[in-house]
Amino acid sequence: MTIRADLHIHSCLSPCGELTMSPRAIAAAAAESGINLLALTDHNTARNVPAFAAACRDQGVAAVFGCEATSSEEVHVLALFEHERDAIEFGDEVYATLPDVRHDPARFGDQVVVDEEESIVATLPKYLIAASAWSLTQLGRLIHGRGGLFIPAHVDRGSFSVWSQLGFLPVDEYDAVERVGEGRIDTGDLPVIAASDAHEPGRIGCRATEFEGAGPGFAALGAALRERRVRPIART
Ligand SMILES: [Zn+2]
Ligand SMILES: [Zn+2]
Repeated sequence: MTIRADLHIHSCLSPCGELTMSPRAIAAAAAESGINLLALTDHNTARNVPAFAAACRDQGVAAVFGCEATSSEEVHVLALFEHERDAIEFGDEVYATLPDVRHDPARFGDQVVVDEEESIVATLPKYLIAASAWSLTQLGRLIHGRGGLFIPAHVDRGSFSVWSQLGFLPVDEYDAVERVGEGRIDTGDLPVIAASDAHEPGRIGCRATEFEGAGPGFAALGAALRERRVRPIART
């Protein structure tokens, strides 16, 4: 079957994500737009993963779990895991290294953790857009140590990317790169994914990654990346 994956999405926990981006709204919008494999990737935390997992189960959408970590070079990296626990623990490790910059909701938007019923159960006090203490290489080791996929985000974008921060892609054990079609950067023969980076429900699935597999899930995604069978697509 054809699997259509959107692997880069922000919930209401990301300060840039709208409050309408509850895990339930995300899963419903994905199902509506034909996405059958979905990842939640909030900035430097995965605390909304439990509510996201429940919402995806209810919608019949397969899910992988992760976050978008910021390296010490201010490069964004997608970390995707098969298991909720790995995503949450990795996210907590990253969050713990963020500088102690208090989040200001009035200026930057809310950072809310919700439960399966969409009740707000916590707000995270540290500003989530800040850089972690770990370099790109160190993040890669931590992600692979938990069996995850290490994917530099929007590598050709003009901000928070390997292109904007370093000017090139350093040699490392990447599983793929995410492109958005802006700048030019050499990524060799690495598999290329596309994703919405949605911060509002209407954007979910506007860019996606397709591949063939027996069924949507982490194992099928990993195999398609290793075998370079993924196709980045954009909704017309
Ligand atoms: Zn980003
Ligand atoms: Zn993002």
